[in-house]
Amino acid sequence: MKVLTDYIKSLFLLELFKGLNLTGRYLFKKKFTVQYPEEKAPVSPRFRGLHAQRRYPNGEERCIACKLCEATCPALAITIEAEPREDGSRRTTRYDIDLFKCIYCGYCQESCPVDAIVETRVYEYSFENREDAIMTKEKLLAIGDKYEAQIAADIEAQAKYR
Ligand code: SF4
Ligand code: SF4
Repeated sequence: MKVLTDYIKSLFLLELFKGLNLTGRYLFKKKFTVQYPEEKAPVSPRFRGLHAQRRYPNGEERCIACKLCEATCPALAITIEAEPREDGSRRTTRYDIDLFKCIYCGYCQESCPVDAIVETRVYEYSFENREDAIMTKEKLLAIGDKYEAQIAADIEAQAKYR
C-alpha cells in the first residue's frame, strides 16, 4: 500500500506542490532578516560580550584582587597578580583575560563580590594578532570607563534575577 501511495505522490508531484505552497505562504509575510551592520538586532541586558573592569564614581578601581574570578574561571583564562598598596589596600598589578580561552560563561561576573569584572553588550570586536586577544587591566578599565552608564543600567535590570 505504501509503495502505491509513494507512486501516486511521485506521479502527481505532490511533495513539490507542498513545498511550493509553503514558499508561497511566506512570500508576502513580514521578513525577519536584519540588514547587519546597518541594522542591529536587540541585545539583552544579560548579554555576555566583551569584558570590562569597573570603577567607583570617585575613580577608584573596584577590583580588590580577591582572585575569586580567577579561581572560578573554567577556562583558566584569567591571570591575576596582586600587591598591597602603600595605604594597605590590596589591588591587582596584573589582570589579564585571554579571550581565545574564554568561553563567555559569565562565571567571573557572577563570582565578583564588588561587581568589578563584568561582561558588556559589546560584541563587535576582532583581533589581527595573538597579543590583541589578551585583555590587560588597562584595556579592561578603558572599556569600563567607556560603557559605565550602560553597564550600570544593565546590572540594575538584571538584579531581580540574581
Ligand atoms: S566568562 Fe567564563 S571563561 Fe570567560 S573569563 Fe569569565 S569565567 Fe572565564
Ligand atoms: S574582579 Fe572581582 S572577583 Fe576578580 S579579583 Fe577583582 S574583586 Fe575579585
